[in-house]
Amino acid sequence: MARRLNKDYRKTVSIVEDAMEKARLEIPKGEVATYIPELGKVDPNQLGICIYPLNGKKICLGDYDKRFTIQSVSKTIMLVAALEIFGPDKVFELTGAEPSGEAFNSIVELDRENSKPYNPLINSGAIAICNLLTRELSFSDMLIYARKVCSDPDIMLDEDVYHSELKTCSRNRSIAYLLESKGIITGDVDDILRFYTKCCSLSVTAESLAAMARILSNDGVGEESTKRYMSASTARLVKILMLTCGMYDGSGTFAVNVGIPSKSGVGGGIMSVSDKRAGIGVFGPSLDSKGNSIAGIQLLKEISNKLTLNLFYDPEWDKAQNEATFAEKILEHLK
Ligand code: GLN
Repeated sequence: MARRLNKDYRKTVSIVEDAMEKARLEIPKGEVATYIPELGKVDPNQLGICIYPLNGKKICLGDYDKRFTIQSVSKTIMLVAALEIFGPDKVFELTGAEPSGEAFNSIVELDRENSKPYNPLINSGAIAICNLLTRELSFSDMLIYARKVCSDPDIMLDEDVYHSELKTCSRNRSIAYLLESKGIITGDVDDILRFYTKCCSLSVTAESLAAMARILSNDGVGEESTKRYMSASTARLVKILMLTCGMYDGSGTFAVNVGIPSKSGVGGGIMSVSDKRAGIGVFGPSLDSKGNSIAGIQLLKEISNKLTLNLFYDPEWDKAQNEATFAEKILEHLK
């Protein structure tokens, strides 16, 4: 039985409201993405969150129902589909499982001999995954799966963002050609780029991301508790990669400050999975220098310990361990 997250609903809501106020102060320190021209038109001042506990009432605040493009958060959907259809051996033949320490659209690692993309949650890894997916799935299959896993029948392809990115995606095109030169991409480069870019241009809300995160949190099972959307082993692998690689070259710092497996996108979305506790979706399009939602990160940082969402924080356990005495004992040893 999942631990009840918000025993006192009103108190929990007021904690999240306070966190939103603090997080809003970060907005002017960031900028919306402009390398995809259409994203440059988005209002940077938006901020919304949806927390969807396994056990307890949903909390939705601010711009939680505003539509934005999923961008790199779709890499989790691509990864789930690839793991389910082709299995982990095939997926990790094409990409590694290491944090990259490089920008999300980096090409440096691809120029080394015998190298492959660092992981499936950066552009090069996801484009390699799309080579697999396009063998079995059409974009409309992905759209149907995205609608299901996000419990959101209104997810659509944002045509304006899609065409805007496709026209300007020379970096992703370079990645795809480098992957082709290494034999990682074997299909048609244009088809694969169109498929990848369409998946990034799905219009979602913070609430839709929270619904998918809740399924991951529950190891693949939906709210109805009988309906499975993916295998438990797939859900676990995706969560581990989100923790280690989901925030690009900001993954380590984010793990230290927040401690919740998460995946960001340059549309301003963050999908966070508080394991066995809650799914969380955040929307805040003002981005930091690494392409992560600047206010979104602050918001998650504010609530992670207060609502015990941090993977490694459990106040009950801490109490039982009598941490203070333990610390004193260590100091004793050092004397
Ligand atoms: N579609 C974007 C790209 O390929 C996704 C990047 C992101 O969200 N970080 O550049």
